[in-house]
Amino acid sequence: MRILTILAAACVAAFQCTGCAKSAPPAFDGASAFVFLREQCDMGPRYPGSPGHAAIRRFLVEKLAAFGASVAQQPFEAVLSTGDTLRLVNIVGSYRPDARKRILLGAHYDTRPRADRDPDPANRERPIVGANDGGSGVAVLLELARLLAASSPAVGVDLVFFDGEDWGEEGNTADYLLGSRRYAKSLGDRRPFAMILVDMVGERDSRMSVEGFSAAASPALCARIYGIARTLGLPNFVQAQGPSIIDDHLPFIQAGIPAIDLIDFEYPYWHTLADTPDKCSSESLAAVGSVLVRYIWEAR
Ligand SMILES: [Zn+2]
Repeated sequence: MRILTILAAACVAAFQCTGCAKSAPPAFDGASAFVFLREQCDMGPRYPGSPGHAAIRRFLVEKLAAFGASVAQQPFEAVLSTGDTLRLVNIVGSYRPDARKRILLGAHYDTRPRADRDPDPANRERPIVGANDGGSGVAVLLELARLLAASSPAVGVDLVFFDGEDWGEEGNTADYLLGSRRYAKSLGDRRPFAMILVDMVGERDSRMSVEGFSAAASPALCARIYGIARTLGLPNFVQAQGPSIIDDHLPFIQAGIPAIDLIDFEYPYWHTLADTPDKCSSESLAAVGSVLVRYIWEAR
């Protein structure tokens, strides 16, 4: 086994050194990403204060460290419009932390504390497991971390796992986007040239049109991402503008950073107890992931 391992390493080294550029895009593995989605759902609901929230924080830190990222945690307290205080933590995995040119990829890791869209009123105070809403974006970012461990693009990459995206009550936008607002204020010299958010990207046969705020604020970034999707022939990316959605990309747009939200908002199980892994597929995760790999590894 040991000799085999060494031989395999030598083959990889030879492959990297000859024939192709060292930044050749790796292959995004949808099945591997889907395992990350399932592992999160096995922790149960992951809203702030829940046992699942503590479990996924440990999981993210361990995975990012295992995948060679420089890991940072940003704990903070968010004061809500109710006067209550939430203790939250953003988690960041950085690659090439000293690189000046950086891409930020974000996803929220918290899940909704109440299934307030569930068809059964008796379920509406129960927390959701968030396979697509929470789980899918994190799964895509973790698979990217696994690839970044083995193949370095020409730019720095920050994978940012936002807390507190989905806490707020419907109709009160003040108590949403808690982690991304905090993080966007603290960028300092980690200011990215592009921010890409993945949220609800895992539904079977997903269809993502160009999110409205992204199209208005970041037309070049949208054209680049959707252009890659067209080149790859992915029907999951609909080449037309869709609705505008309040999401974790907005604090970055407000900070003057080109940002895009990749999201399939036509999800019948949104904020219900039925947002479970069987509604998602490895193919949908791979569609988004393969576009992101192209974008990241071709960036200069
Ligand atoms: Zn949500």
